[in-house]
Amino acid sequence: MTPFQRPNSAAARDVRHQMHPYTNPVAHEANGPMIVDRGEGVRVFDEDGKDYIEGLAGLWCTSLGFAAEERVARVAYDQLRRLGFYHPFGGKAHTPGIDLAEALIAMAPVPMSKVLFCNSGSEANDTAIKLIRFYNNALGRPEKKKIISRTKAYHGVTVASASLTGLPFNHRDFDLPMDGVLHTTCPHPYHFGAEGESPEDFATRCAEDLEALIQAEGPETIAAFFAEPVMGAGGVIVPPPTYFEKIQAVLKRHDILFVVDEVICGFGRTGNAWGCQTFGLQPDMIACAKQMSSGYLPIAALMLNERVYAPIRDNAGRIGMFGHGFTYGGHPVSCAVALEVLAIYKERDVFAHAAAVGPRLQQRLRGLADHPLVGETRGVGLIGGVELSRDKAARRPFDPAQGVGPAMGLHLHARGIITRVIGDTVAFSPPLVITEEEIDTMVDRVALALDDTLAWCRAEGLL
Ligand code: PMP
Repeated sequence: MTPFQRPNSAAARDVRHQMHPYTNPVAHEANGPMIVDRGEGVRVFDEDGKDYIEGLAGLWCTSLGFAAEERVARVAYDQLRRLGFYHPFGGKAHTPGIDLAEALIAMAPVPMSKVLFCNSGSEANDTAIKLIRFYNNALGRPEKKKIISRTKAYHGVTVASASLTGLPFNHRDFDLPMDGVLHTTCPHPYHFGAEGESPEDFATRCAEDLEALIQAEGPETIAAFFAEPVMGAGGVIVPPPTYFEKIQAVLKRHDILFVVDEVICGFGRTGNAWGCQTFGLQPDMIACAKQMSSGYLPIAALMLNERVYAPIRDNAGRIGMFGHGFTYGGHPVSCAVALEVLAIYKERDVFAHAAAVGPRLQQRLRGLADHPLVGETRGVGLIGGVELSRDKAARRPFDPAQGVGPAMGLHLHARGIITRVIGDTVAFSPPLVITEEEIDTMVDRVALALDDTLAWCRAEGLL
């Protein structure tokens, strides 16, 4: 009898009571969960003590490793004892919230005016959409409300942020996207570039597609454009050179706000503090979360510049209230922990460490490009993707029904690697504190999993 079959095992109780996000529920009821018991640095351990390198830092968030260190735990404890809850509604404030807002404004990649705290990336993007509406109503242009995002974008799962997300599983059977959200070309030359087209020419074409969409809808109806610097959950897609320069010129021409979703890229992921710096972005609003607290407690923030803030302030003043806010937004314990995490980033120069070891990850992933199953490797800083392909020359993906991505996931798991396989792309976003030796161990294990998957494909007659 496996532990899962014992009726009172944790696994059986999980299946009985818990509904899992991003999980096939039928398979889950048959197979049970993987129970993650504890963490240490870049590793987590299952119930049997088997160790796994966490190649995705959990969900792109656990920058400092899986067991929070003493000083972080102490800060949370002390804050709980001093003031275990308070909120910023009705003009209240607490010191951790004030200090964190100040720290974020000070480190922002472009001048920002205000921070509005939320609990998740989805909430931050949802809030951005609401502020964009409020802003354009304040300016007396109620028709300027449509929002453009990109195919394969990931901006969250609330009704509005899932609408921004450009992935089939997030729309299908949820009756999304909602009206007023449009999607433009995904900047991934490997799949969407034409034969013989240079990456720069493809970037020009992406900007032309955006311009054409704006013209077709009417520029006076388009309020904002959302983008991740590197698209993460859509498959680790790094934009081609000149892409954002050209996109931003289009946005400027039509007075369209630019919202940058730094939920994955913020706090050192791409080799700089912000993805905005890596790609030369000049946003009006920034959504950030995840690595802000190393994922230890839920917290997110939306930063907005004065251009956006001033009309919102004036309009809310006129009508008497800014009617938005979450009970737990800017929770004092989360703020205190985030401040401690930011202090550790600074003291230990964690972003510089990530920038220094990033090239090792990129070089080692590129070393997998010759493997018969690998179509493309890509990445920047400490984020990377390895895309499997059925036919390297034709860049032909596997039929999803053949289950090659999930099989790769199982082989990675067996080799002691946890990560996400998105379609046919294996995503990497390890904790920022990973060492070069740990990167080598991780990629060595990935290479073995690729061999296992190749053997499996051959045995299944897929190649
Ligand atoms: N934006 C991006 C770029 C993300 O990667 C994510 C989550 N992976 C979100 C938003 C949504 O964040 P959350 O899951 O905290 O709502």
